[in-house]
Formats: sequence, structure tokens, C-alpha cells
Amino acid sequence: MRQQQQRCCYCNEPATLLCDFTLGRPVFDRGADGKSRPFYTCDLQVCRAHAEHRGTMHVRLSHSVNGRRGFFDTTDHCREHTGQQSRVPTPRITEGEAERLRRVVRERAERRALDSGVLPVPRSTADQLDLF
Ligand SMILES: [Zn+2]
Ligand SMILES: [Zn+2]
Repeated sequence: MRQQQQRCCYCNEPATLLCDFTLGRPVFDRGADGKSRPFYTCDLQVCRAHAEHRGTMHVRLSHSVNGRRGFFDTTDHCREHTGQQSRVPTPRITEGEAERLRRVVRERAERRALDSGVLPVPRSTADQLDLF
């Protein structure tokens, strides 16, 4: 679970979770600095009520941090990915494609929020132009 202070995409509650659905893995596993890159995840901001708790996993670290060799992390999915399994094997996608996929999910989430009447999101003209 990663913390942050934004609003849930489905309501006005503070978003405490980011969707962990895996969109893909980087085309190049390692960056220019030689460090391995993380998988691209959906990252949609949701509150506890609008997140689907998928489970808790133990993350093992290759070296100890603060005297610990691992930690527990929760896996949560947004409404758009509720009940969905991340694709296996994880497809390789580019940064641009990951961004595009995230945007599609965000638009779907906004439409769902509007349909339910919970969150009237005023869309700026700039946003509209950006779509086409
Ligand atoms: Zn919510
Ligand atoms: Zn998601």
C-alpha cells in the first residue's frame, strides 16, 4: 500500500490507495543507472471503500533495511480492475503505452463516477482537446 493525499477517483474521500493492477513490464528491465525498473501499474487513486482488497503479500528485500529483511504490502485494485487478474506472463510495454493505458482507465473511472452521480467532475476544454 502506498500512501498519498489525493482524492478518490470515485468519490470525494481522500485516496489512500493506488491500484496495483499490473499493466506491463518495462521493455528494458534496467534503466541507464543499472537499477531494475518496477512494473507499470494502474495507479488509479482510490479510497478504501472503492478499492478491492486482493490480498497481502510479504516482500523480501535482498538486503536488510532498518534491520528488517522484508515487509508486508497489500494488493488493491480499483473498480475498473475489480475481479481482474494481472496478465501472466506480464506483457512488455513502453512508458508511453503505460501512460495511455492509465489514461483509458482514468476516463472509464470518471465516467463511472459521473454515472453514479457521486462526483461531478468539470472537464476543462484543454482536457477535451487533449483526447483527440
Ligand atoms: Zn471512493
Ligand atoms: Zn486499476
